[in-house]
Amino acid sequence: MDMNSFSLKGKIAWITGASYGIGFAIAEAYAAAGASIVFNDISQELVDRGLKAYAEKGIDAKGYVCDVTCEEAVQALVKQIEAEIGVIDILVNNAGIIRRIPMIEMSAEEFRKVVDVDLNAPFICAKAVIPSMIRKGHGKIINICSMMSELGRETVSAYAAAKGGLKMLTRNICSEYGEHNIQCNGIGPGYIATPQTAPLREKQPDGSRHPFDQFIIAKTPAARWGTPEDLQGPAVFLASDASNFVNGHILYVDGGILAYI
Ligand code: NDP
Repeated sequence: MDMNSFSLKGKIAWITGASYGIGFAIAEAYAAAGASIVFNDISQELVDRGLKAYAEKGIDAKGYVCDVTCEEAVQALVKQIEAEIGVIDILVNNAGIIRRIPMIEMSAEEFRKVVDVDLNAPFICAKAVIPSMIRKGHGKIINICSMMSELGRETVSAYAAAKGGLKMLTRNICSEYGEHNIQCNGIGPGYIATPQTAPLREKQPDGSRHPFDQFIIAKTPAARWGTPEDLQGPAVFLASDASNFVNGHILYVDGGILAYI
C-alpha cells in the first residue's frame, strides 16, 4: 500500500468554527498531513484567538469571520477563499451549538436556532463548495455529527433532531454527488472534553463528580472522556485518498460507548 494516500499535501481544507476545540484539533492534524488550513468563526474575537493558537503551533492558517447560517455570507466567503487561496478540497462542517433545555420548556425559536447552526449551516456550506469540487473532479465533505445522530436523550431534542438530520444529509450528499468523486462522510464524536461539555464535568458542591461525568466513565468501554486529539486520525483518513471508496458513512469515535449503551 502507498502510505502517501494518507497525505493531504497540496490540499486546501476549510474547517468551520475551528478557533478551538474539535475543529482546531482536526485542522492541526490536517496541517501536519500537509494541507493548507482555512477556518472561520462567528466573531473577530474567536478568529483572533484561533489565529494566535495556530501561530503558536507553527501553522499558517487563514481565519475569517463568517456566520455559517447566513447563505450570502458563506457564498461570499467561498468566493474569497477561491480567489485568495484556491478551490477547497476538503470541507469540515464542525461549527455547532447545543442547548440543554427540557423539550417542553424550549421555545420554538431556540429549537430553530440549534437546527439552523447544526443542520442548515452544513447544507449551506456544502452547497457552496460542491460546484467547484465537481469542476475540479474531487472533494471531501466531513460532517461532525454526534452520538445524538443515533440516540435521544433528555434536554437535547433540538440537537438530536439536527444531528440526526445531519446524518441523513451526509448520506444524501453521498448519493447525489458520489458520481463526481465527492465523498461525504460524518464523524460522530462520543463525549469529548471540550468547553462545550465542560458543564457536565463540573464538580458537585460536595466535591463529588458530576452525575453525568460518572455516567460517562461507567458506560464508556474506554472508561474515559475522549479528547479532541482522538478525532485527528479518523478525520485525516476521511479527508485523504485512503478513503476514496468510503462514502455516506458516519464513523463513530466514541471509545465504544454506542456499542455498549
Ligand atoms: P463548539 O461546539 O463549542 O463550537 C465550535 C465553534 O463553532 C465555536 O467557536 C462556536 O462559536 C462556533 N459557532 C457557533 N455558531 C456558529 C455560526 N453560526 N457560525 C460560525 N461559527 C459558529 O466546539 P466543540 O469543539 O465542542 O464541537 C465541535 C463540533 O463537534 C460541534 O458540531 C459539536 O456539536 C460536535 N460534537 C461535540 C462533542 C463534544 O463532546 N464536545 C460531542 C459530539 C459532537 P461559539 O463559541 O461562540 O458558540
